[in-house]
Amino acid sequence: MANNQDLIKYHDEYIMGTYGRYPVVLVEGKGSVLKDADGKSYIDFTSGIGVNSLGAANNGWVSAVSKQLDRIQHISNYYYSDVSAKLAEKLTKLAKMSRVFFSNSGAEANEGAIKLARKYSFDKYGKGRGAIITLKDSFHGRTMTTLAATGQDVFHNYFFPFPEGFRFVEKNNIEEFISETSNNSDICAVIIEPIQGESGVNFIDKDYIKQVKNICLDKDILLIFDEVQTGIARTGKVFAHEYFDVEPDIITAAKGLGGGLPIGAFMCGEKLKNTLSAGMHGSTYGGNPAACAGALEVLETVSKIDFLDEVIKKGEYIVCKIKGFTGIGDKIIEIRQKGLMVGLQIKLNGGEAPKDYALKCLNNGLLVLTAGSDVIRFLPPLNITYEEIDKGLGILEKILCK
Ligand SMILES: *Cc1c(COP(=O)(O)O)cnc(C)c1O
Repeated sequence: MANNQDLIKYHDEYIMGTYGRYPVVLVEGKGSVLKDADGKSYIDFTSGIGVNSLGAANNGWVSAVSKQLDRIQHISNYYYSDVSAKLAEKLTKLAKMSRVFFSNSGAEANEGAIKLARKYSFDKYGKGRGAIITLKDSFHGRTMTTLAATGQDVFHNYFFPFPEGFRFVEKNNIEEFISETSNNSDICAVIIEPIQGESGVNFIDKDYIKQVKNICLDKDILLIFDEVQTGIARTGKVFAHEYFDVEPDIITAAKGLGGGLPIGAFMCGEKLKNTLSAGMHGSTYGGNPAACAGALEVLETVSKIDFLDEVIKKGEYIVCKIKGFTGIGDKIIEIRQKGLMVGLQIKLNGGEAPKDYALKCLNNGLLVLTAGSDVIRFLPPLNITYEEIDKGLGILEKILCK
């Protein structure tokens, strides 16, 4: 039963149907080329939603993880770990932060950031100042609290009661932010994705962020950047907020950090470094040595200036090629791109969804993501080659310009 069809039937007999999956079983890969159970190959513009930063089965990454597996695969956080310390040094230095806590996912990183912000406020101002502002169209995760923090109504359903304390403002609308923060004295933090990934690769203005930061400084509100999707060189900087020239109080990361193993992180600067003390937060798996060894290999590779330059160049190359598609007409409304985070807002015909295009791409040998209601999104491995880009875009051109 090694083919797609039989394996899908087998899978669905035991696994909950919580995902609208595409009908292929991906079984192996190398770099930016993946293979399904029928033996068909695909160019990968998804990297598992921005996770496989170095592509599939990268030699250096596999070797770093395997070496750690041969030493020890897991230790309890009641003991110290050499490899998590090394990763912590590298990550905090790159982020210009003082301390890090390792979690297992993006949602958990955000949960931790929320706890940290509320504890800081509690210590200084007591109870009743725990409200957090987030942006409309944001996405912060699938746990109860990060769902509550997510600024999209579709996520606030079924699972009532949700944790309270989240308020949503429109992105890039500084007047609304000013009025929200001047009418309420119970706000301890604001969480912002430097680029909103899930809702459509939506940009946040630098000016807006700068003004938000000034208000935060004025009112002792903590600025949290959710870099779960944008971080770890995805946009051509190690962290996307570097484009803003604004210092956050807390940064969260996950997706691309582990290069394929589950790890997340929240980091803070000097001000918050002692806010959480022994017993206040924890995780059995957090800082898992194998995941940390993989993450260290990822960071050492992607933080090199030449590597970051290539991410920027490849992103620009993709945009340039798409603009040159023959017969593209007005099919693309807007291309929103930073580094290798690319959103193509497409003109849909009646009844169409971006998923229809993703499915056509898949049938022709290209894996892409969707975002929001009308966006095709690419988050390819950061070391994708120009040949692979050309091949993938060739498939896309055929589909968009037919
Ligand atoms: C994916 C994502 C999350 C959630 O991460 P998980 O690892 O799925 O829990 C949170 N924030 C942003 C911006 C994301 O893109």
